[in-house]
Amino acid sequence: MPTSLFPTATASAPRRKSVAAPADPAVADKARAVHARLCPVYGCPIPYFHNLDPLSELISSLLSHRTRNAESGRAFKALRARFPDWEAVIDAEVSEIQAAIAGVTWPELKAPRIRDVLVAVRERRGSLDLGFLADLDIAAARAWLEAIPGNGPKTSAAVLSFSTLRMPALPVDSHHHRVAQRLGLIGPRIDVGPSHPILRAQLPADWSAQDLYDNHEILMLHGQQVCHHRRPACGRCVLVDLCPSAALAAREP
Ligand code: SF4
Repeated sequence: MPTSLFPTATASAPRRKSVAAPADPAVADKARAVHARLCPVYGCPIPYFHNLDPLSELISSLLSHRTRNAESGRAFKALRARFPDWEAVIDAEVSEIQAAIAGVTWPELKAPRIRDVLVAVRERRGSLDLGFLADLDIAAARAWLEAIPGNGPKTSAAVLSFSTLRMPALPVDSHHHRVAQRLGLIGPRIDVGPSHPILRAQLPADWSAQDLYDNHEILMLHGQQVCHHRRPACGRCVLVDLCPSAALAAREP
């Protein structure tokens, strides 16, 4: 079990701004070429896989940490079936929440975390409704979400992009991150969190929410289906001539 599943930064602690320097033009060209190659392969525009309100998407995102989609989806449904609304989750015993989400990884940590996040939202907004984020620009909406202790750029981007807000944010998951690293879009020491503003800056500033969602989905799907963690299938990859890691993979036994 990890010593800490979620970071413990407080809302008042100084936070590093997630703003990247302008992208290197050659790297930005490559990022756009990658998008143009992968879109026909995976079928852009890709249908949104969720239609949840933003607070529900936030809870869903917390459940999905290090957990397969099917299991976190089941846990989310069980949570909604067990409690009539999010207020009831705040009022519940942690053990009841934990029992409802038993199928996810680390339910004993996620149960109190979910309640803490709901309490934080209610304290800061006076209600359990994140619909107001639609009236903020993307940077302000991300900053609001990331000021909740433990929420990072991955969670804020997921809430804004995947929920019914449909805002232009670029989420980066572990598959997306691995493919971007192998392609040389980000350096080998850039972790998932700091990669968000770097990868976003490589794409056109005026891209729509659907464009950015597609970019995330096609890189994630490519990581799942071709650019595997252990043995990337470079022999059938449409990006092979753009990828500095292809030759390295070919030398592996
Ligand atoms: S060429 Fe190989 S390492 Fe590069 S993106 Fe394709 S599968 Fe991944």
